[in-house]
Amino acid sequence: MTEAAKKNRYLTPVDIAEGLLDLDLVMSVYDRLDTGVWIFDFDHKRYLWANQKALDFMDAEGLEDLMSRDLSADMSPAVEERLNQYKQDFCRQDVSFEEIWTLYPKGKAQILQINMKGVRLFDGRMAMLCEARPHQEQQPETVRSAEALLHTTVMITLFTVEGVPLYRNTASRAACCSLDTTLKGQFVDPRKGDVLMRRVERERNSRLVANIRTTTGPRWHEMTIRACHDAVTGQPAYLVSEIDVTELHETKERAQYLASHDALTGLSNRTYLKERLTEVFQTAFAKGQRATFYLVDLDDFKLVNDTLGHAAGDALLQLVSEKLKELSGPDDIVARLGGDEFLICHLEEDDRQSPDWFGQALLGAFSSPQMIDGKPRHVGLSIGYAHYPEDGRDIEQLMRHTDLALYQAKTDPQYKCVRFHERMRRLRDEHNAIRKDLERAIEENEFILHYQPIARTSNDRVVGAEALIRWQHPERGLIRPDEFIPIAEESGLINDIGLWVAWEVAAMQARQKALSFDVPLSMNVSPRQLSDPAFVDRMQRMPVETGCDPSLISLEITENVLLGDIPQAQDILTTLKETGYRIVIDDFGTGYSNLAYLRNYPIDGIKIDRMFMDDIETGGEIVKLVLSLASALGASIVAEGVETISQRRWLSDNGCNLFQGYLYSKPVPETRFLSMLETQSRIAAM
Ligand code: C2E
Ligand code: CA
Ligand code: CA
Repeated sequence: MTEAAKKNRYLTPVDIAEGLLDLDLVMSVYDRLDTGVWIFDFDHKRYLWANQKALDFMDAEGLEDLMSRDLSADMSPAVEERLNQYKQDFCRQDVSFEEIWTLYPKGKAQILQINMKGVRLFDGRMAMLCEARPHQEQQPETVRSAEALLHTTVMITLFTVEGVPLYRNTASRAACCSLDTTLKGQFVDPRKGDVLMRRVERERNSRLVANIRTTTGPRWHEMTIRACHDAVTGQPAYLVSEIDVTELHETKERAQYLASHDALTGLSNRTYLKERLTEVFQTAFAKGQRATFYLVDLDDFKLVNDTLGHAAGDALLQLVSEKLKELSGPDDIVARLGGDEFLICHLEEDDRQSPDWFGQALLGAFSSPQMIDGKPRHVGLSIGYAHYPEDGRDIEQLMRHTDLALYQAKTDPQYKCVRFHERMRRLRDEHNAIRKDLERAIEENEFILHYQPIARTSNDRVVGAEALIRWQHPERGLIRPDEFIPIAEESGLINDIGLWVAWEVAAMQARQKALSFDVPLSMNVSPRQLSDPAFVDRMQRMPVETGCDPSLISLEITENVLLGDIPQAQDILTTLKETGYRIVIDDFGTGYSNLAYLRNYPIDGIKIDRMFMDDIETGGEIVKLVLSLASALGASIVAEGVETISQRRWLSDNGCNLFQGYLYSKPVPETRFLSMLETQSRIAAM
């Protein structure tokens, strides 16, 4: 190629053929233009070429001077970012921008209206072709506002009323996935876009926070939209300004999430529940759907926590919450109310299902052993439920009724999924009335103790007695303990009542000693009393304060005390035993009856539950077994509820030396019991 041909390479063959033009001439034409033209190298931040007008604008001596300027030296990050943006825009699409720029060649402000386009260099890189004219409108206001529009991080876009973009400022261009993305097209959830469009049509302006697709993934934008007119065409348009509020939004969401969810299971917590229930109820109500409240409570959860540790307890709660989520429908609510109690609000798809199918499914899911702490274990559930609308008309009422049903399920060993019934409410009302009345009875000291003799099976000789409480009600007469002790236990009033019983029994023991009887006495101690420090303290001071002999007082406790309902049960029992009291297991055989754990406790005696008397009629195999268990522990044995001579004879024949029951005597007042002792000692003296 000749020099001339090389130089002329950019001219069309026609031009060259005609011989009228050459590159120098073309270039000189550029220099005579009134428009400044230059090419800018994005990557090196330098001018690659400029015509004379551009040199004038830039106050440059010549092309070399201009090309030698390294603009990166004092380029602000904002300008750099903007240039990068242009480059990206040009790479993505063949676009041009018309903008007003203020340049500062040699420190002098030069306001130019610049048109920018992308141009590919021979090495494939993108550069920028600029055409600039002095900006006509040199009003400082206009200049500054144009500058502000370029620099602001607020994304500003002008759309037609159909949502087609007419103009985007730099920030808007940087964020949008494609320059022609429509107003609605940028929403992650298009329904939000509809909401915004409808609102602006109706109210002329609107604001919302929405999830928007951007070049950096979905972001949260606060959008303000205003109806206006396009200044160029005069057509109606929408001006949208957006700011990125992702961090703020996410922090807020997170805080809200933490406040509304249970950290361990990720289920809704109590706080959030109310809000969601209201929503679900509105849906159920609108669709005429039936909703069911379920309260699920784990049986013996405390036992898992106490015996396997808190990590195993946590794992169990997580396992249960996973199962509950798995079984419930997408619109159902599953919440942890605290501890081991869960609430499910289940929406019935159709009502052909049996009313408790969901509760039964829950029970079914736990009917086989679950892996906890690496071992398969049985997890028992109690479930109470109530239907909307039959069992309650609002959330509060349903919650209360479901709770009553759960209470019933917890106390019933057989039916673990129980529906609310009116009678439960009546029962609860009665309980509440009794509890109030009990508070008064404690104040008024309305309790008395009766004593039921314990006698020898061989010769009917009285060798002790159990103190049994009665309530002398001013209107209702004598009330048996079964009617009020469970309520006292549940409400905690048993602690006050128990302190009184303990004092009375100790005092009675001291009194009969003065009458020169030294018959051992038994008193019942509720599990709850053992965790009451006042009780243990009172028991320790009792021998000094009343003059009783603690070795002649037995404390009757039930087996579940030993099973972990009370942490430190072993320590407390040991303390009581060290003070001198005897420890006796009451109602033996009705609970877990595990010899292995009985060995860990300082047990002196066992009372075989009344229900085993029926067994005696049919051979007494179980009683024999219980008797051998007891003797292996070296404990004394009392058979309870002995009503017939044949039962007593059988016991005597099978090595059970002591009995208590109607056969000998019902529980009687103290005076009557003392006179029994007197008669007995008179007969013995004869
Ligand atoms: P318990 O400790 O098992 O007491 C034995 C119960 O069986 C007594 O009922 C007694 O009257 C009854 N009984 C005794 N012999 C026979 C019999 O041959 N046949 C039948 N059918 N029953 C018999 P009571 O006095 O009504 O007491 C009921 C329960 O109330 C007691 O069961 C005990 O758990 C609780 N209780 C009684 N007094 C107290 C107390 O002072 N403190 C605490 N915490 N609980 C008490
Ligand atoms: Ca007892
Ligand atoms: Ca008993």
